[in-house]
Amino acid sequence: MNELLGKKALVTGGSRGIGAATAIALAERGADVALTYNSSPDAAAKVVKEIEALGRTAYALEADAADATAVANGVAQAADLLGGLDILVNNAGVGAIGPITDFTVDDVDRVLAVNIRGAYAAAQAAVRRLSDGGRMIHLGSCVAERVPGPGMTLYGMSKSAITGLSKGLARELGARGITSNVVQPGPIDTDMNPADGPFASPQLTNLALARFGAPAEVAAAITYLAGPHAAYITGTELSIDGGHAA
Ligand code: NDP
Repeated sequence: MNELLGKKALVTGGSRGIGAATAIALAERGADVALTYNSSPDAAAKVVKEIEALGRTAYALEADAADATAVANGVAQAADLLGGLDILVNNAGVGAIGPITDFTVDDVDRVLAVNIRGAYAAAQAAVRRLSDGGRMIHLGSCVAERVPGPGMTLYGMSKSAITGLSKGLARELGARGITSNVVQPGPIDTDMNPADGPFASPQLTNLALARFGAPAEVAAAITYLAGPHAAYITGTELSIDGGHAA
């Protein structure tokens, strides 16, 4: 379980949900971890405490993913505090479910700023600090591959961009041995998409495994891609989606 010992990782949006589970899973495998948050400082502090209890170093940094300068500063600060950077998990994201006519231009700008521009800004800043042989893992969505019903146009658009970002980075960074991959979760039980929420049961009908996934199940895939056994995997998508795309 110590395959990431000595590695330094940054998880954007690591205060709750999949990001929090990932920060803890990376630390369980030996990594020191910085995480960013926007509106949940107390939750971020709790994740830091959990990581410290594992004997690892952790930092929580405020950085709104919609603010590209704050994101770039957050990456630089994380690398300075950790003494380097080996792993970026580009996780911060917001949901946007509803008919296309419901969203204002401001809504669209906010979703794209967080889900796309924030991910780009984090990757761009990380390119300058990542060690050779480093890892980037970006959170896409099963909806980028197959939209199962109405109401996901804006969110699906924002998440399909992550595939292009990741594949481009794989080509740009391969010479340095840095890999870039997308993890595509299906319905995962978090604040964004609670298993007992109003939209839960229609999502189950699309799955081969008729249940929501747990954040730790996505974190396990991310830590695999971050680890030494995934050194030859780059420019691809790994679905953790209960068979949503089957
Ligand atoms: P949650 O809403 O449970 O958690 C979102 C996390 O992202 C929080 O830590 C939050 O931090 C952070 N975040 C949100 N907005 C910002 C922002 N503007 N700046 C910085 N951090 C931000 O979501 P999930 O854990 O469910 O989702 C994580 C990722 O996985 C997202 O990219 C999401 O799109 C993707 N995903 C999730 C699925 C699901 O079913 N849950 C399915 C497919 C993809 P804070 O609270 O501090 O603002």
